[in-house]
Amino acid sequence: MTSPVSSEPVGQPHFHYANGQLHAEQVALEPLARQLDTPLYVYSRAALQAAWTRYQDAIAGRDVLVCYGMKANSNLAVLAEFARLGSGFDIVSGGELARVLAAGGDPARIVFSGVGKKVWEIEAALTAGIKCFNAESDAELERLSAVATRTGQTARVSLRVNPDVDAQTHPYISTGLRDNKFGIAIERAREVYRHAVSLPGLEVVGLDCHIGSQIESVAPYLDALDKLLDLIDALETDGVQLHHLDLGGGLGIRYEDETALPPQALLDGVFERLQQRGRSHLQLVLEPGRSLVGNAGVLLTEVQYLKPTEARNFAIIDAAMNDLIRPALYQAWHGVLPVTPRQDEPAQTWDLVGPVCESGDWLARQRVLAIRQGDLLAIESAGAYAMAMACNYNSRNRPAEVMVDGADFHIIRRRETLEDQLRGESILP
Ligand SMILES: *Cc1c(COP(=O)(O)O)cnc(C)c1O
Repeated sequence: MTSPVSSEPVGQPHFHYANGQLHAEQVALEPLARQLDTPLYVYSRAALQAAWTRYQDAIAGRDVLVCYGMKANSNLAVLAEFARLGSGFDIVSGGELARVLAAGGDPARIVFSGVGKKVWEIEAALTAGIKCFNAESDAELERLSAVATRTGQTARVSLRVNPDVDAQTHPYISTGLRDNKFGIAIERAREVYRHAVSLPGLEVVGLDCHIGSQIESVAPYLDALDKLLDLIDALETDGVQLHHLDLGGGLGIRYEDETALPPQALLDGVFERLQQRGRSHLQLVLEPGRSLVGNAGVLLTEVQYLKPTEARNFAIIDAAMNDLIRPALYQAWHGVLPVTPRQDEPAQTWDLVGPVCESGDWLARQRVLAIRQGDLLAIESAGAYAMAMACNYNSRNRPAEVMVDGADFHIIRRRETLEDQLRGESILP
């Protein structure tokens, strides 16, 4: 047995019940969903701001650049909000660069991560004047040097090292172990730095790591930091002076009963360690994604059919794995809330499944809910790695997205149409 029939939203203080209805800030979600149709992503602007403020409070005026790990949620309105708050951005593609620029983000606050940067992406980032490339291999350094030299520019680079620490998270979102594709093994880092400083067109400015996602304790970060500080000491004897240290993202949020890792806890630990090691002058860069947006959104869905069977009770909803793939991909747990809780129906245990033709197409299992056909449900904690991972599998239009702001709401992405889906395809002549 799992969640109670109608609890308050867990970890999402900007979503709450009032007058028997779930609200985002002051907007009731039942009429919103009836007006705009479902599935529908709804975000809270105040929740985005509150998440940003938690970082700023922890930073307390020190030299820390927060670069939003925008792959978590790359909607233009979300990016524009963080740009307005002064955020930098951690990008992983040329497409993400274009989005940041379209949203009014400051190119001088962009760091570019990712193992597979193509030539056009490097050219575009150099032209934009980004802060730094987080280089992940010797071959990438060669390419960065070649493109920078050919275009008469300088590429500022950090090396992403793999500190071989276990972030104790799901294997698909753990990135700091030796057998991941990410980063340069820390044992090889000195040699690769020597190579980097010898290459034309490069300016070596930093050191970077990102050890995983949904990390719940400070310990793995401090393990990584110790290894990085040892490396910085060694590099100094090699004559390599670095300007910044990038600890990546990965701070965990509360989905069910996890303890969220507050930025304050991380930064207190990191500042203390930097002080002890005489490295307080280093600029710190963070790349949080999930912890800035994950609990700022819900996914609204309507129950299409109730299908009790001998083995299980299925509630077939109009949201599916193509809209929110985390349960299918990582067996992720998302809370489920009735939008308008009902008293006139006994609670039963339901599996919430979508219409997609895959047995893996489920969003929640074994949930105690009092529901009828046509009822609305809210899938909680759907602000990160949710719409950003949506696709058109089964030729389903991707959902619309709405940003609530106090008593107002704005459609920040209209629902996709069948015309949108067919655009660009053609039949053989
Ligand atoms: C995904 C990613 C992030 C953001 O991770 P979160 O767990 O969402 O904070 C930051 N940096 C890099 C390099 C990433 O790949």
